[in-house]
Amino acid sequence: MEIYNNMSLLELEKKLVQWGEKKFRGRQIYEGIHKQGISSIDDMTNLSKSLREKLKERGTIAKLEILEVFSSKLDDTKKFILECKDGNVIEAVYMKYSSHSTLCISSQIGCKMGCVFCASTKERFGRNLEKHEMLDQIYAVNEYLNTRIDNVVLMGIGEPLENYDNVTGFIEMISDEKGYGMSIRSITLSTCGIVPKIYQLGEDHFPINLAISLHNPFNEERKKLMPIGKKYSIEEILDACDYFFKETGRRVSFEYTLIQDENDSLKYSKKLVQLLRGRNCHLNLIPLNPIKEYDRSSSSEKSVQEFYNYMNKHGITTTIRRKQGQDIEGACGQLRANYIREERS
Ligand code: SF4
Repeated sequence: MEIYNNMSLLELEKKLVQWGEKKFRGRQIYEGIHKQGISSIDDMTNLSKSLREKLKERGTIAKLEILEVFSSKLDDTKKFILECKDGNVIEAVYMKYSSHSTLCISSQIGCKMGCVFCASTKERFGRNLEKHEMLDQIYAVNEYLNTRIDNVVLMGIGEPLENYDNVTGFIEMISDEKGYGMSIRSITLSTCGIVPKIYQLGEDHFPINLAISLHNPFNEERKKLMPIGKKYSIEEILDACDYFFKETGRRVSFEYTLIQDENDSLKYSKKLVQLLRGRNCHLNLIPLNPIKEYDRSSSSEKSVQEFYNYMNKHGITTTIRRKQGQDIEGACGQLRANYIREERS
């Protein structure tokens, strides 16, 4: 069975011609799905009834089902639990800011990377998400909220660069002007630092926003927080980021979770300045969102502010990420993990 919403425009056109139809029918189907948000073949009324029947016999538009929506009482954050066709569940988080709204989407079912502070890695790894499963997180939320999402961050469950082909295929499709037409500059991909794939992103010229989860400026300590640090050193990651910047002209962001008594003292801010000074980059400080499985607290507001002041004073453009949706299990993967546990009990 074909999955029409997983196919690029070229693939759809080719398939329709193979089936003895006119090439432009492929474009009509593609625009119906990605431009007009049609999710049922029956609703493609610009196609003949016989073609609609043929399409239904030979394939489908595979939709995610929204199982639950959690709305924050503190802000406009909404968290969606979605079910894939094979019964796996993923989550997407909608966040509203004063100037725009963003959807944080998942790229895998679970994550193999094992970062100690992350809920996504605590449940069994399932599989990579297909392109249409990433696209449909956006389309399903658009339909539910009757909105149009114009910013997306691949910062939910999964390591996007471990699913390179599907993730870059997704980026090509969501930014395709003949389809949904999201600006490629409104797409952010967050990685724990898969060095060869950062080079590949640069080589393939994807001018997206690249965010590196750094979290500790010392290799030996970072390895304990993020096992990927045993494979790639911070210096190797920074070299790959320089290459990405050279090839795409896009400034790289570094994500730094502030954990009390772990990485928030002057020793860390000094080392971070040493590493980042002179680089065209941006630092994002994130007070830790505590999870049950990681017995640490967020840095105090005072420490966060001191860290922020130090970095800016030393020439590193720094922001503090505002906490969102704290009353509805804020951390990445936390909702899904809780949902799976409840289902099991
Ligand atoms: S922080 Fe990202 S890479 Fe690390 S375990 Fe969580 S989802 Fe995976």
